[in-house]
Amino acid sequence: GPVRAYDWIGHHAANRPGKEAVRELSPRKHHSYADLDRRAEALAVHLQSQGIGRGARVALLAHNGVEYFDLQFACGRTGGIAVLLNWRLTATELEYILNDSAPLLLIHDVEFTATAQDLQQRCGIRHLLCIDKGRGAASAYEAALAAQAGQVARREVLTHDDVVTIMYTSGTTGHPKGAMITHGMNFWNCTNLGTPAGVGMKTVHLSVLPLFHTGGLNCYSNPVLHAGGTVVVMRTFDPGAALRVIGDVAEGITHFFGVPAPYQFMLQHPEFATTDLSRLQSAGVGGAPCALPILQGWGSRGVHLMQGFGMTETSPACIFLDPADAQRKLGSTGKPLLHTEARIVNDAGADCGPDEIGELWVAGPNITPGYWNRPDATAGAFEGRWLKTGDAARMDSEGFFYIVDRWKDMYISGGENVYPAEVENVLYQLPQVAEAAIIGVPSDKWGEVGLAVLALKPGQTLDRDTVLAHCQGKLARFKIPTDIAIVPALPRNATGKVLKRELRKQFVGSNAPAIT
Ligand code: ATP
Ligand code: MG
Repeated sequence: GPVRAYDWIGHHAANRPGKEAVRELSPRKHHSYADLDRRAEALAVHLQSQGIGRGARVALLAHNGVEYFDLQFACGRTGGIAVLLNWRLTATELEYILNDSAPLLLIHDVEFTATAQDLQQRCGIRHLLCIDKGRGAASAYEAALAAQAGQVARREVLTHDDVVTIMYTSGTTGHPKGAMITHGMNFWNCTNLGTPAGVGMKTVHLSVLPLFHTGGLNCYSNPVLHAGGTVVVMRTFDPGAALRVIGDVAEGITHFFGVPAPYQFMLQHPEFATTDLSRLQSAGVGGAPCALPILQGWGSRGVHLMQGFGMTETSPACIFLDPADAQRKLGSTGKPLLHTEARIVNDAGADCGPDEIGELWVAGPNITPGYWNRPDATAGAFEGRWLKTGDAARMDSEGFFYIVDRWKDMYISGGENVYPAEVENVLYQLPQVAEAAIIGVPSDKWGEVGLAVLALKPGQTLDRDTVLAHCQGKLARFKIPTDIAIVPALPRNATGKVLKRELRKQFVGSNAPAIT
């Protein structure tokens, strides 16, 4: 039969109760494994007292904090399912997700009280529970835990096939879909990713990405808690504050993970050059194409960012670049992880040859059984056991994978495919450029041409001719953008990925090609 789901926190609390599990930075709070064990148990009892049993959903609308781990591990004891909400979404967007997932309880930060009450009305949610960090033990959430102290929850026998969270994909390209995350997916990610990332009991990981996204929760927070290490939680990311924590001997940070944006913002921060990065053993990057100047900028300080490819649906790591190859294969995302298979498939459904661009397909025990309430979307995403990622990729003759771009972001100019990430890499070489994004815009002559949307560094100016001249000789003619637009900042989602659909809306308007 299926493998039983084990209780990581219960295990570490029994074996090393005083070991620090979670450190919150603001307000500063240290939670040992025994503390986290007690918190998860008290929340589990509270959930059961409200009739929230196996398979019932509990939503969380909160900034990064220990509550994410309380809830995930409480659900791991009662069979509840945690729905992790992106607090940057509008009330209308949240209404869509809450109607889809139908939680019985919504746990929320005090900052989101008005939204939570509104959503309770609109979506018929039975209970609200408010976290108010400023009130300490008087917070309704803390009081609910304290009221159950010493009680023991009824254990459910859960297996690797049971769903423990629903994570709505970040919605970079369209309507969010709830990826069902099972205990097994989380376990396989811990071994798949934790091992090559060097996660162990001595790891002290600084977690800055939102914990409602897979990049925050699973890279590397969950693997660290599985291993018995320490997760240091930053409530919201700030580049200067993150650099100061990384550089602080007393914090002892050994691991970091980001999408490219946090690395880019830290690299551009005045304190980057003087921050002591010597204790950082492992710094991973994934979730979006990472421009070469970011890899090189960190590399010049001795930190070789390890690229990885992952998705919410794959919990997330699938492909990872070994540090030994980080220099020689700059820009590659590496090779498939131990427990994941990957292939690149062309339009005819056959495996691509070396350097031929096709769609990346992945298979393995870290991959979702499907989308919540969406059998249609689930069926469309799979070909047998293979998940079709929607990403364009190629593999070189040595078996290294390169993510070229999202299929949906590719455009066709004069019959030639253009992958924006390649063009963006060239634009990032311009010293004036802080942020760059290429989108395809309609052209009578070429079908589509590239528009370079640029945000500049403070005090800089840049004109179209300079940009085009810079691209000459570095890019084939059909790849060179024909026009530029300067914006104050690129629109980004909560993890920091550029929202190209927003740019298309702004610059292409009603002529925009259908984006689904
Ligand atoms: P949505 O599915 O809602 O549009 P999303 O795909 O951005 O949002 P995530 O699951 O957070 O949501 O991100 C996975 C995607 O991120 C991948 O499909 C791929 O497009 C991109 N990605 C991940 N890793 C890399 C990488 N190393 N290089 C380039 N792109 C990457
Ligand atoms: Mg996606």
